[in-house]
Amino acid sequence: MSEQLRYTFKIIIKKDGPELFEDNQGESGIMRKDALALSDLTLLYDRFKRNINYLRISITDRCNLRCTYCNPDNLVPKLTHRDILSYEELLRLVRVAVHLGISKIRVTGGEPLVRRGVYHFLKEIVAIEGIKDVSLTTNGVLLKDNIKKIKQAGIKRINVSLDSLDRRNFAKITRRDLFMQVWEGIESARYEGFDPIKLNVVAIRGQNDHEFQDIARLSFDYPFHIRFIEYMPMGNSNFSKSRQILTPEIKKRLQKIGELIPVPNLINDGPARRYRFKGAIGEIGFISAISSHFCDQCNRLRLTARGALRACLLSDRQTDVKGPLRSGCSDEELARIFMHAIYLKPTGHKIAEDQGRTVNGKMFAIGG
Ligand code: SAM
Repeated sequence: MSEQLRYTFKIIIKKDGPELFEDNQGESGIMRKDALALSDLTLLYDRFKRNINYLRISITDRCNLRCTYCNPDNLVPKLTHRDILSYEELLRLVRVAVHLGISKIRVTGGEPLVRRGVYHFLKEIVAIEGIKDVSLTTNGVLLKDNIKKIKQAGIKRINVSLDSLDRRNFAKITRRDLFMQVWEGIESARYEGFDPIKLNVVAIRGQNDHEFQDIARLSFDYPFHIRFIEYMPMGNSNFSKSRQILTPEIKKRLQKIGELIPVPNLINDGPARRYRFKGAIGEIGFISAISSHFCDQCNRLRLTARGALRACLLSDRQTDVKGPLRSGCSDEELARIFMHAIYLKPTGHKIAEDQGRTVNGKMFAIGG
């Protein structure tokens, strides 16, 4: 990300007045008083009274697949070890975040399982007091050989990306001929008792739309939660918006297999709208970030591998936390940076209304 896109702010400490902030986009204001002492903080609320309790952590930009829609330019991130946050740094940030009311963590990437030491890291996150739920998003390539370690770390919920059931199409989308490896990984997760296993399918016209029905039919034979995700225009790619397929169209195609019966959402379900075919043991879900966005209920904050806090996936505004962390700031100061990032969380994104707009950040760098 170029420097002028990176959001930065400074805190101006005045002796007898309130603390002020000033950012590089011309905004300034009074720091929230409740951010001043860690011990006083219980819950993170943004300006729109959304309770932010969910942190998604990208632990690496690297990935062992090169999905054409996620990484259209086939980039191999050339980050040094120093560029990304160490596990110690990540754990410290999580501990600060817990004080602010974060209780749910998802570990993602890039591909989280390619980073050395990840299983120990998962175990340490699970052990942090106040963390109630830790889940993992993976492409499944390394799942089969490591599923026991993931289980031993205390992870109970995993999401696996699976955009195609056809080996050749899978290789075309991911630029790697690894479908069988991923499928065996999913099977081994099932064997180890992971339940539910969510399968993420990014819906793209001309890429996998001819497979939607086959993918959905898996729910008759497997207890998977298959979630069709609307493609989000990211990374300034020329991946045309005309290839986007929105939920109403996907649903219409799936209804040809059978009636989609709504399943009530539970409090912790997240944004997916859930359904089930009659007689199926698995579920179908739709994540409609574009057609029916869920910004008013968004409880998420993201921490990128390079150490920036991003309050909205579809807004390029980020708050650097790595710099202050490495220049020796206190936990209270880190807490204020979290508060500030949350303070700037936009009310919602306008991607659907603004047809030409894309987001500069790349999903593999931000963490999906
Ligand atoms: N490597 C892991 C994986 O494949 O699940 C985690 C990272 S990946 C960036 C997380 C999720 O983001 C995947 O399900 C991927 O398909 C999805 N994704 C990537 N680019 C996307 C886009 N532009 N729109 C919607 N989903 C996207």
